[in-house]
Amino acid sequence: MERREAAAALAYTGRLAPRTIRTDPGEARDQLAQWHELLHDVPFTTDHGWDVREAIRAHILDSPYPILPVDVARKWRAYRRDRLDRHTDPTPAADPDDPGAWRAELVSSRHAVAAGAAAPSTHRQLTSGGPHPDVEARLRAIGSYIPPTVRAELARYRPAHAAREAVVAQGGPDALSVPCGWCHARTGEPCRQRRVGPDSTRRGNAVRTIPHPSRADLAAARLGQQQTA
Ligand SMILES: [Zn+2]
Repeated sequence: MERREAAAALAYTGRLAPRTIRTDPGEARDQLAQWHELLHDVPFTTDHGWDVREAIRAHILDSPYPILPVDVARKWRAYRRDRLDRHTDPTPAADPDDPGAWRAELVSSRHAVAAGAAAPSTHRQLTSGGPHPDVEARLRAIGSYIPPTVRAELARYRPAHAAREAVVAQGGPDALSVPCGWCHARTGEPCRQRRVGPDSTRRGNAVRTIPHPSRADLAAARLGQQQTA
């Protein structure tokens, strides 16, 4: 939480338990600095049930001891642990054959749950079919299964795709909009590096990050025609 939020939490504490807050101006400043220091990575509220005021209120009701910021930080850690215990990794939208992307999406969804930005996903929700409500909300918000932050993270795992997006974003021709006359990649498919062995047999066909130059030229010529038409 930010400093003004720490001040609000402290003010709330003062309303419920007046003797816990300092009234001398110098001491009050020190107390606020201490609360802010210890609670800067604890959110004031989240969309999924955490509210620092609830934590403060519960402590004051439950404990005979004056509340300290560390009590609030401990409650936040317990809340995170509890959410992760209840969380079952949902099936990522990423291609299962792409372990890097798959893992990145799992890690991202766990971070979101731990931080209170997303609700835990349980087995029951997993088997009930259809996307999780959170996923639907996210889809509506951004029109894609892949949030922009995750997409950026995935770029390292999908170099050909990322290179294509970068060229198109800069207004350049999308080479994949035409077939490749060199490697015979079809429209929409990336170019492949054909490796031919000494006995003329194919030795592999790794995906090329950069399309073959003749294909890029063809796409540029098409784009030019479209723009002048
Ligand atoms: Zn090609």
